[in-house]
Amino acid sequence: MIHDPAPDNGGPALLSRPGGVRLPFSRGQKDENHVGLLPTEGWRKRNLQFIGGILIPTILAPRKPKRVIDEVPLAEVDQIGVTWLGHAGFFGQVAGVNLIIDPNWALWHGPVKRVRHPSLWASDLPPIDLVMITHAHFDHLHLPSLRRIARGQPIIVPQGVGSVVKRCGFGQIVELDTWGQAQFKDLKITLTPARHWGARMIHDTHRGFGGFLIEGPERTLFHCGDSSMFEGFQEIGQRARIDVALMPIGAYDAPSGRPVHMNPEEALDAFAMLGAEYIIPMHHDTFPLGSEPIHEPAERLAYEAAQRHLEDRVRILHEGETALF
Ligand SMILES: [Zn+2]
Ligand SMILES: [Zn+2]
Repeated sequence: MIHDPAPDNGGPALLSRPGGVRLPFSRGQKDENHVGLLPTEGWRKRNLQFIGGILIPTILAPRKPKRVIDEVPLAEVDQIGVTWLGHAGFFGQVAGVNLIIDPNWALWHGPVKRVRHPSLWASDLPPIDLVMITHAHFDHLHLPSLRRIARGQPIIVPQGVGSVVKRCGFGQIVELDTWGQAQFKDLKITLTPARHWGARMIHDTHRGFGGFLIEGPERTLFHCGDSSMFEGFQEIGQRARIDVALMPIGAYDAPSGRPVHMNPEEALDAFAMLGAEYIIPMHHDTFPLGSEPIHEPAERLAYEAAQRHLEDRVRILHEGETALF
């Protein structure tokens, strides 16, 4: 379905093929990848541990200052530029297109406190041509952040998420099914499967979720969205030769006990399954959403990267930092 709230004031038109290229096994895969909402046994105890051990200490600690960033380096048209905006948010430069994925400048999500002031705000970034949201969870789809960047450009979201963003000021809202594709200038964008869930509240389980393959004529960027480990990474890797994979590594010690996120070792396993050249971690050091210590995911990733002799292919960015590939 394509919502077109302001067809005349939008940026370049975005052509979607919601059906996309479907393989026989992509049907049904979605249900199997949909993680249920019920917490596992022992969640009350884990919840108390999370509140006492992580949440309250973070609330009491002063928020760290922003990192000082001079300016965002611009990528050549045959380069990929990746700027980490904190949590799952990235500013990307692919094939001459400026895009943003899951931007979130919130200082609080309910009682969950952002541990550092954002280092780059929307106003520090070059003009955004295209916006992408991986799913409607509050840490990925933050409406005030989207309103800050909406200037009539198109936004791509999973099926069922368009209604959440329809009054933000985007020129065109394109919803994609899993493996559905959209074309924007020289980019082909595909919604990839993930093992997660899409409800923003509780009952809106119809909302889709996933990640994005962003393919230019020469280079490909992949944003995983949120996912636990699953065999789908193999197939995503077969669909495109991925240069840079943005992979979540935090919130693995979930108070609910639900297996909805990967730990750093699993993220490296997924990176191997994807066959990608470089990995940049995300979903760490921003919002404490799991019971693990806030700095543990990046430390574990660095350690495991060394164990696997992958130091040259693992780029752990500071918030606001840009890597060019
Ligand atoms: Zn998340
Ligand atoms: Zn999520």
